[in-house]
Amino acid sequence: MESVRSAVRLPPVETVPLAAAHGRVLAVDIKADRDYPPIARSLRDGFAIHSADAPGTISVIGETRAGESQQPALARGYAVEIMTGAPVPKGADAVVMVEHVEHVGEKVTTTQAAKAGQFVNRQGAEAQAGATLIPEGTCINASHIGTLAMTGHTGATVYRKPSVAILSTGDELVDIGATPAPHQIRNSNSYSLAALVMAAGGKAVILPVARDTEPELRSALEQGLRYDLLLISGGVSAGKYDLVKPCLRQLGAELLFERVKIQPGQPVAFGRVGSKFVFGLPGNPGSSMVTFLLFAQAALELLSGRREPLLPIVEARFEAPFAHRLGLTRFLPACLGENGRLRHVSWQGSSDLPAMARANAFLIADHDRENWAAGDSIRVLLKP
Ligand code: AMP
Ligand code: MG
Repeated sequence: MESVRSAVRLPPVETVPLAAAHGRVLAVDIKADRDYPPIARSLRDGFAIHSADAPGTISVIGETRAGESQQPALARGYAVEIMTGAPVPKGADAVVMVEHVEHVGEKVTTTQAAKAGQFVNRQGAEAQAGATLIPEGTCINASHIGTLAMTGHTGATVYRKPSVAILSTGDELVDIGATPAPHQIRNSNSYSLAALVMAAGGKAVILPVARDTEPELRSALEQGLRYDLLLISGGVSAGKYDLVKPCLRQLGAELLFERVKIQPGQPVAFGRVGSKFVFGLPGNPGSSMVTFLLFAQAALELLSGRREPLLPIVEARFEAPFAHRLGLTRFLPACLGENGRLRHVSWQGSSDLPAMARANAFLIADHDRENWAAGDSIRVLLKP
């Protein structure tokens, strides 16, 4: 990943309307345009008082509500009836809740002591003017949109989405609109990969399927290398017609890795051709999804301007005993239930898309552990 990080140039910047900014990557720091809150405000409905006047009976001299400007300073021995969000008058240093006092006529009686500062959101307590609220490189979520709106941004300055070419290879593939003959399959990977690319913040471009011949594959690869990132599905294993790596080499690719000790996805390849990065993902749907999530997604996030790619890995406990064969780290379909328990979803292997459709995660079975009892915990990679 270091090789990706050091070679990545930040993408160009564009401005999008705030409503379209969700999931985009901020290209600038967002700072507080003023103190938050800009003046001390009440956190409760009640009475603004001098804390030293409680407990006791205090004269109420008026009321103040949210949207009103700050009242004159409050003298000792007096209270102002105050609503949540209203400016706390100068002098007052506490709010007592309406539920905790007796209010009769122009007098309010509190039997409890008040702490200085209680239920007062003092000026600048949330943020001081000029403080960085969201750093550049952050993927914008709903709270960030709220913060942008709060600070007066009608749009967001974001990095342009990287374009990602998706090239499926294989003589057995037909278009998803076609009826396959028994020896053929529909090209599902182009679409699941496009969904993963979009979920990770990229612009997916599905290229026509390339057949397993060198001339056709080479020209398809050349086309794919015009995009910011190229994802190839299939043709990277050791078979006679797995021509992706030889063709990439003919195009001057430097392959940075060609094999990893995982299953599915062992033959995944990663390389660069000039300034462009390319992943050769194994063609089985389980393999291409796992290797995308483990490797390609991080590269895509760096190309999007995001600072720290993070894999969504959590710990969960097995509902029932589980075992696998030692030797490879396996990413196996699993379902994390509402009870927080993990269920292994049995599958026929990495071609088994129906099993993956029943799963919401991949459990990560370490290469050096064979058995887990019910209740044992294990790491889980969540599916986007
Ligand atoms: P390969 O990596 O080319 O050896 O492909 C392995 C297996 O993955 C093939 O036998 C196909 O069954 C399957 N496969 C390859 N490409 C795709 C694709 N685009 N969509 C769905 N399945 C595929
Ligand atoms: Mg193939």
